[in-house]
Amino acid sequence: MPDRRPENRILRVAVPVPLPRLFDYLPADDGEVVQVGSRVRVPFGSREVVGVVVELPAIADIDTSSLKPALQIIDDQPLFAGELFESLQWLGRYTHAPLGEIFATALPGPLRRGEPLPATHDWAWRLTGAGHAGLTDMRAGRPRMLAERLQDGAVNEADLDPDEAEATATGAGVWRAAARTLAQRGLAERIAVPPSQSAPAPRQGPELNAEQQFAVDAVLAAREHFAPFLLNGVTGSGKTEVYLHAIADCLARGKQALVLVPEIGLTPQLLARFRARLGVPVHALHSGLSDGERARTWAACLRGEARVVVGTRSAVFLPLPDAGLIVIDEEHDGSFKQLDGIRYHARDFALVRARALDVPILLGSATPSLESLQNAVCGRYAHLRLTRRAGNAQPPAVRVLDVRKRPLQAGLSPELLDAVAAALAKDGQVLVFKNRRGYAPVLLCHDCGWSAQCRQCDAAMTVHAGGRRLQCHHCGARRPTPNACPDCGGLALQSQGAGTERIEELLRERFPDVPVLRIDRGTTSRRDALETHLAQFGDTRGILVGTQMLAKGHDLPNLTLVAVVGIDEGLFSADFRAPEKLAQLLIQVAGRAGRANRAGQVVLQTHHPEHPLLDSLLNGGYGAFAAIELEQREAAVFPPFAHLAMFRAEAKQAEVADAFLLVVRRALEDADRASRADAPALELSGPLPAPMPRRAGYQRSQLLLSATARVRLHRVLQAALPVIRASPAARKVRWSLDVDPVDL
Ligand code: ADP
Ligand code: ZN
Ligand code: ZN
Repeated sequence: MPDRRPENRILRVAVPVPLPRLFDYLPADDGEVVQVGSRVRVPFGSREVVGVVVELPAIADIDTSSLKPALQIIDDQPLFAGELFESLQWLGRYTHAPLGEIFATALPGPLRRGEPLPATHDWAWRLTGAGHAGLTDMRAGRPRMLAERLQDGAVNEADLDPDEAEATATGAGVWRAAARTLAQRGLAERIAVPPSQSAPAPRQGPELNAEQQFAVDAVLAAREHFAPFLLNGVTGSGKTEVYLHAIADCLARGKQALVLVPEIGLTPQLLARFRARLGVPVHALHSGLSDGERARTWAACLRGEARVVVGTRSAVFLPLPDAGLIVIDEEHDGSFKQLDGIRYHARDFALVRARALDVPILLGSATPSLESLQNAVCGRYAHLRLTRRAGNAQPPAVRVLDVRKRPLQAGLSPELLDAVAAALAKDGQVLVFKNRRGYAPVLLCHDCGWSAQCRQCDAAMTVHAGGRRLQCHHCGARRPTPNACPDCGGLALQSQGAGTERIEELLRERFPDVPVLRIDRGTTSRRDALETHLAQFGDTRGILVGTQMLAKGHDLPNLTLVAVVGIDEGLFSADFRAPEKLAQLLIQVAGRAGRANRAGQVVLQTHHPEHPLLDSLLNGGYGAFAAIELEQREAAVFPPFAHLAMFRAEAKQAEVADAFLLVVRRALEDADRASRADAPALELSGPLPAPMPRRAGYQRSQLLLSATARVRLHRVLQAALPVIRASPAARKVRWSLDVDPVDL
């Protein structure tokens, strides 16, 4: 029988520092019992840090002479237990990141800093003995009215709050003053009560159509075990209704449901819809909440009090002791990938968790990622389709405007402005959408549509050095920017379209009698600002101008025209994912036009009306586009037919960053050779300048790894990383490893 007394155990702790190992500590002097998965405060160098206990080896087996004691056991019950503890360890191995940093990433701020798990109970008021006895003698007034309400037992503070209409008439929270008065006289007291599970009675949704019913039935039939589903349905086809039915079933079985949505998709409208339909409180987790609120949601999940959570990326780390279902809405969305620190992908990690939890997972999208589509094609995911818009809504009509040689004002053609005028004349709302994903700018001839391509690669060159130089971001080739178009001799070479500010200005001039509202990161940095702006804009005639922020989210029922400009850069981007992202964006933004009672129209302005991407998308829809794109990815051995990882390095001098990446390259080649079965597992390209080679005074380079077998990619990385970390070159740069990078 091993000795399990705490004083005979070593604490092996994952500490949030960039070192890929665990650290041993002696038990704290207070003799507290500690469990694996609990947080501990420990000395680290000259600092104190909060770590997580990962193992408890017997003291007898270890040389303890150099060990320091832990300072404090923070949790008497582990924060990380069972599935979450295991899944986070998996994530550490997959991202090759230190486990301590993984745990830190999984926790909301206050818990990361070592604060105790917050209380999640509600507060209620009840009469004391004196209160019951003295009630009949009380003078009339607010305190007595309150005391009468408490006569039959404690009442939650939430229920004492008058509803909204009453609140404006009487002033919100008037009962608080009365409660204080009663408390001062010893007649009433405030008590902690278990969190209320009461919510408005669930409202009935629309009757499901046959495709929706089929989808719901499929999910329910698989509800006892891990089962991934791709729910592929156009915008407005009723995917959310399918989620709601699956969640209701999950709740009825006494289980928890987790719903992940993109940053921009978590609108008050969406939360209200979930709250109105499910009959239980719906917890939210997103960047707009305070640290304290996030920690409370975390605690409520851990205690099993939260039954439904709707959250953005980081909600994938919530503990789910009674998990029954995971839903990922807009599974293709880029915001699920964390771009710094621990570079996890919330969708992919959710799949890992669903498997570990043995629950179904539903990935929904109108424009699935090629990764998920491929998984559906080869049978790893069940493929559910919703092919029609629900109700009577019609798909919007799409018109392509060829703008070669057309006079452009702020990047807008006369035909596009005519279409805006026509839509306004019919009292419609117009969205002028400017594509501006962070593509490096490419050089384009406005007269003939020529674009600068690399002579050695099948890729566009990007504009550098303030427009004076072109560079290929695949092979590094450089050449000066030509003065005239090599194809037509024209002088109208331009590196970028017009920004949204100029478009806004022009539209205000042209349409002085309607409101013009510009929405982009500049005007709307806070998430609720977007809601406020759109609410003020309302449903009346007017023009919205914006970028990606307007591609989804807040429902705009009177939008009849969507005018899209600035897509040509995306057609010729150096990033192999650019066509996929552009196609998704076009479908998404087009899907905003039109509702049941009003047909919608989309106009698409381009220099490349005959481009195969537009052709397949407009004639065959996203499915046709994706089929072609998947063939091309397979031919080029890109994801999902290859697995990528990226080393990035930055330093004041480009040579220093490159020197480090050459060390990385050599270490990888050595490890590959050592592990080789027959042929090299890895293809390496780089060091090459990053898409944005200079940022904040740092020169940035990258080295891309590609392998057809994921296991071998990881085996080589694991063997090479100790060499890389130990190299002197590593100390002269800031570097990171990104497994499954999305921005190349
Ligand atoms: P998605 O999530 O695919 O965009 P939603 O679930 O939000 O689609 O549905 C779009 C609209 O159609 C919503 O207003 C919804 O209430 C309505 N709707 C969904 N399913 C049905 C149905 N079976 N019958 C009638 N209306 C429906
Ligand atoms: Zn030309
Ligand atoms: Zn090239």
